[in-house]
Amino acid sequence: MFVRVAINIPSEKTFTYSAPPDIERDIAVGKRVLVPFGKRKATGYILELTDCADCEDVKDIIDVLDAEPLFSPDDLAFYQWLSQYYIHPIGKTLAHILPAVIKPKTEKVISLLPDDMKPAANKEKITGKEAAVMDFLKARGNASIRVLQDAFANIYPTIKNLEKKGKISVADRETARLHNQSFSIGRTEGRLHLNPAQQKALGKICASLADGRFSPLLLHGVTGSGKTEVYLTAIEEALKLNGGVIYLVPEIALTPQLLSRFQAKFGDLPIAVIHSAIAQGSRYDQWRQIRRGEITVVVGARSALFAPVKNLKLIICDEEHDNSYKQEERMRYNARDLAVVRAQLASAAVILGSATPGIQTYHNCRSGKYGYLSLPKRVEDRPMPEMEIVDMRLYGKEKGKDLPVLSSHLLYAMENTLKIKKQILLFLNRRGYHTFLICPECGYVFKCRNCAVSLTHHAAEKALKCHYCDYVMPASMTCPECGGKKVCAYGTGTEKLEEEVKRFFPEARVTRMDSDTTARKGAFGKILQALDGGAIDILVGTQMITKGHDFPNITLVGVVSADAMLNMPDFRAAERTFQTLMQVSGRGGRSDSPGKVIIQTFNPDHYAVKHAKLNDYEGFYKEELLLRKGLSYPPLSRFVNLQLSSADKERGLAGIARIGKAAREMIANEGMKGTVEILGPAEAPIARIKGMHRWQLLIKGRNIHDMNRLTRRLLEEGKQCGLTVKCDVDPVSFM
Ligand code: ADP
Ligand code: ZN
Repeated sequence: MFVRVAINIPSEKTFTYSAPPDIERDIAVGKRVLVPFGKRKATGYILELTDCADCEDVKDIIDVLDAEPLFSPDDLAFYQWLSQYYIHPIGKTLAHILPAVIKPKTEKVISLLPDDMKPAANKEKITGKEAAVMDFLKARGNASIRVLQDAFANIYPTIKNLEKKGKISVADRETARLHNQSFSIGRTEGRLHLNPAQQKALGKICASLADGRFSPLLLHGVTGSGKTEVYLTAIEEALKLNGGVIYLVPEIALTPQLLSRFQAKFGDLPIAVIHSAIAQGSRYDQWRQIRRGEITVVVGARSALFAPVKNLKLIICDEEHDNSYKQEERMRYNARDLAVVRAQLASAAVILGSATPGIQTYHNCRSGKYGYLSLPKRVEDRPMPEMEIVDMRLYGKEKGKDLPVLSSHLLYAMENTLKIKKQILLFLNRRGYHTFLICPECGYVFKCRNCAVSLTHHAAEKALKCHYCDYVMPASMTCPECGGKKVCAYGTGTEKLEEEVKRFFPEARVTRMDSDTTARKGAFGKILQALDGGAIDILVGTQMITKGHDFPNITLVGVVSADAMLNMPDFRAAERTFQTLMQVSGRGGRSDSPGKVIIQTFNPDHYAVKHAKLNDYEGFYKEELLLRKGLSYPPLSRFVNLQLSSADKERGLAGIARIGKAAREMIANEGMKGTVEILGPAEAPIARIKGMHRWQLLIKGRNIHDMNRLTRRLLEEGKQCGLTVKCDVDPVSFM
């Protein structure tokens, strides 16, 4: 008997080992084995059992590390798909996905022995305490040592004696390491009566579930339209069909709120919560419980998608437009996209839900690839908040004054909100390393003439650079549009904003929420709890504060600068701005008090801002798609971003030239002309990190197979010229 195993090395190669007779019956696909590998021992993942070896000198497996397989052949097919598509070797993929090898946790269980099993030597006297323990056990059948410890003082000697006297048996039993999740945020209504729109959406989902075929569905519902309620009812249906469920959320801090709703609906149904903050031990235990079918509902951030759920029938991907579904480190993948792939492989239903679907997702509905479900109104006809735009150019024209961070209009609204004891969210999306040049008089922002993205300001070099192509221009202090002479770098951070707010409202309780203040474990949840409990008047924050929380007392939302988002050097900048404005405004006026949203911008006429104000998704989509078509950007094409780096600048430059040449030659020689295109190589927007010089090469095209082939070739080429090369398939960030 032979096995083919993958090993955690940066190569696609897999290896064959033989299983000696004594462990032959222990081997199975999905288990880990210890194998000799070169001079060392390595962990291997069994991919396949075969009865022939592909080479002569086959070595023996040393040991089998798992008692049960960690994944099924179907799960493996999914992992292999992702490994191929994202060009990440299967061994590394499995090492990333699977929980670390940890011994199952056991506890001692004490049982009373039946009379006829008692050995002859049971004449000894039983003490009072021993008798009490025996009675205790009689009532329960058995009890763990922990339970006995709670019930009796100094229990160990008693157990020893009872064991000696043959009254009881002591055995090890496997237990699951549980993690404690607090369920205390938010309200939990009992059973709601779904409104007609919800019922209609649910009807289609149920039909798909009953069908048992792959059905990708977009649930497009404005914030507060009752999407979550639809998901929960859909889960109920899937469970009735004995199906497994995966429910993805973009931000794990949202789970307490969600879990309390789960609890209200499903009572004690065991649910696994998976995310990076869960300890290795309980991750391992949960994984095996899921695998055995003891847990059928998995909730979590992107990595929950890999859980080996049995009989998977439904995947939900909430806030599908959210960028946090894209993992950028170690293994690059997009869980939103993979959710659809996994559903397809499992013939399951997948619901992508959002108030502001990604252009890609909506495009897939329009072209008939995905089904479309819509919840066009908030529940109980609650109004959408009113949106006001503050034209910051008016402030730019004021002589002799600095640009204010907060306009008088916004300050006035804040003051009024504090007076009536309601809460305020202030949103500012600052990316530290990207500032842009703006003319404060007309709002003009310097853009690349080739790429329709804003240019990044490199203050030290007094230059503006495009990170798509290699376009560079000197930073100018004169506006080419209106001739104004006050062009300035723009960009304020949340920290400065917090100070500013405290200066204006010294009495108010101000809290900041961004990656700096939430780095500590649990900090995010604490802030949400404080907000929920009314201990915060003004919450200042980045992207994080825009995510799906439901806080009825927030009646004012301020967007400090829509421009910081609009001017990200990224072809999706308008899409992100539109989404963020819609999401952030969705945070306001969730209950009976009407909400108000104030957006400060130098670009009040930008289509992303205008359509957001009108709450017009369709209008935005049409305009955006037209632009994307003009440049054949996604969803009309795909990108692969090849990131090249080198400690030595000269060597790097020589290397990227060679790679660029190789790429163009391959396109010309292998019939990819017209279907695959190369942009760059160009310097990366962050040109140097930790002493490494960075470049990138964009591969754009429609044929993903050709692009995949080309990328693999270039990765090889890169290695040969001593560059570090990484690839990012379907990139969402171009930094
Ligand atoms: P979304 O996920 O679209 O933002 P939710 O499902 O969280 O919306 O619903 C918003 C609020 O409305 C929640 O407090 C929820 O309990 C409530 N809700 C949802 N559906 C109904 C309904 N049919 N009737 C009354 N209230 C509802
Ligand atoms: Zn350019």
